[in-house]
Amino acid sequence: MAVPKKKVSKSRRDSRRAHNFRLVAPNLIPCPNCKAPTLPHRVCPTCGYYQGRQVINKEAEAAQ
Ligand SMILES: [Zn+2]
Repeated sequence: MAVPKKKVSKSRRDSRRAHNFRLVAPNLIPCPNCKAPTLPHRVCPTCGYYQGRQVINKEAEAAQ
């Protein structure tokens, strides 16, 4: 069985674990239809467009 040669210090251990607790800003792109900030490869939450066509009818949803 493989045994660690040296004790891993608290600093080294914690800095390794801290990699999973990092803050990353979401990659926002302007919507090609309404120019609102939108996540890439997602239907635009503002106008409901994706790949140049309307996927969700926002006007019909607002009327309900
Ligand atoms: Zn949009």
